[in-house]
Amino acid sequence: MEKINVGVIGATGMVGQNYIRLLDNHPWFNVTYVAASPKSAGKSYEEAVMGKWQMVTDPPEKVRKLIVGDANDVNQAIGKCTLVFSALEMEKEKIKELEKEYAKAGIPVFSNASANRHVDNVPMLIPEINSNHIEIIPLQKKANGWDKGFIVVKPNCSLQSYMTPVYALVKAGYEVKRMIITTMQAVSGAGYPGVPSLDMIDNIVPLISGEEEKSEIEPQKIMGKIVNGKIVNDTSMKISAHCNRVPVIDGHTACVSLEFGAKKPSLEEIKKIWKDFRSEPQELNLPFAPKQPIIYREELNRPQPRKDRDSDKGMAATVGRLRECKVFDIRFVCLSHNTVRGAAGGGILNAELLKAKGYL
Ligand code: NAP
Repeated sequence: MEKINVGVIGATGMVGQNYIRLLDNHPWFNVTYVAASPKSAGKSYEEAVMGKWQMVTDPPEKVRKLIVGDANDVNQAIGKCTLVFSALEMEKEKIKELEKEYAKAGIPVFSNASANRHVDNVPMLIPEINSNHIEIIPLQKKANGWDKGFIVVKPNCSLQSYMTPVYALVKAGYEVKRMIITTMQAVSGAGYPGVPSLDMIDNIVPLISGEEEKSEIEPQKIMGKIVNGKIVNDTSMKISAHCNRVPVIDGHTACVSLEFGAKKPSLEEIKKIWKDFRSEPQELNLPFAPKQPIIYREELNRPQPRKDRDSDKGMAATVGRLRECKVFDIRFVCLSHNTVRGAAGGGILNAELLKAKGYL
C-alpha cells in the first residue's frame, strides 16, 4: 500500500515531537511536512528543536532535514501533504480559524487542540467509544462547502483514562448516573516549557485552567448522538471533576467514583466487562489500536504512571483498585499516557480509523 504523506503543524512542541517520534516507520503514514511558529519557520527541523527536544530517542533521520514551514500560512502545506495533524498552541480563536483554512484548502485536519471541539458537526473521537460519529463528516463538508478537507478532533488528554472504562459499563447495559473524578495530571500535559519548576517540584498545583470544565462537558459530546446533522450531547450522566497538576513527567491518573442506575453490576462482573471489552479499532486491527483497550491490574498499588503509562504502546487505559464506594456504588483508579493515548497516539488512531473507513 502506498503511504499517505502527512504534515504535523505545531511539530516542534511537546505533542508535535511525539507525533514525529510515533509516525517514524508508521505502516500507512509518511511525514513529509512540518510547520510551527514564524520563529521556527525556515530552519531545518533539527535546528528548530535543538535544545528543546524532549523525546528519549533522537529526531528520526527522515524528518531532521525537512524545512519547517509557518503553520499560519496554509499555502506552504499545499502539495506537500495529504492531511495534517494539528498540535498547535496559540490563541484558541486563531487555531479555530486556521484549522478551518486547512480544511477549506482540501487538507483534512486531525486536531489535538480544544478550539474546534464544541463545533456541533465536528466529531470528537475516542474510536473505541464513538467511531460512528465519523458519519457526520459528509454533513460537515457540505455545511462548509469543503471538498476534500474536514476536521476531526480528539478530546482532552485526561479523558482517555476513564471514559473507555466507563463506556464499557454503559455498553454492557449499566446506566451511570453520576461520576466524580479527581485527576492527577502530568507536567508534559502543559507542553514545553510548561509549568515553572519552582511551582512543580515538591508540590501539587490544584488548578489546571479550564480543565475541569472540559472534563465535565466533553464526555457528554462523546456519548452523544447525531441528530439532524449535529452531534447532540448526552447530558444524562452528571460529572464533577477536580483536576490537579502533579510532579509526574508523563501519564494522567484519575480516581473515579460512579453511581449506577437501578441495575448495579458486581465487582467481578465489572472486571470481566473491562477485560473482555473490544471495539472497532481492535476489529479493524488498526496499527495504533491497543490489543486490549482496558487492562485491569490486580495488584493493590497499581496503576502507577511510571509502571503503566507505556502499556500496549502507551495506548491502553490501565485500571486498578476497583472497590465499593461508601457514597456512590463503586470507585477505582485509572491511568493513560497523556502525550500518547491522550494526544499524538490518539490523533494517529483517529486518522487510521478514517483511512480504514474510506474517508481518506
Ligand atoms: P507546546 O509544547 O507549547 O507546543 C506548541 C506548538 O505550537 C509548537 O510547535 C509551537 O511552535 C507552535 N506555535 C506556538 N505559537 C505559534 C504561532 N503563533 N503560530 C504557529 N505555531 C505556533 O504545546 P503542546 O503541549 O504540544 O500542545 C499542543 C496542542 O495539543 C495544544 O492545543 C494542547 O492543548 C493540545 N494537547 C496537549 C496535550 C499534552 O499532553 N501536552 C494533550 C492533549 C492535547 P514553536 O516551537 O515554533 O514555538
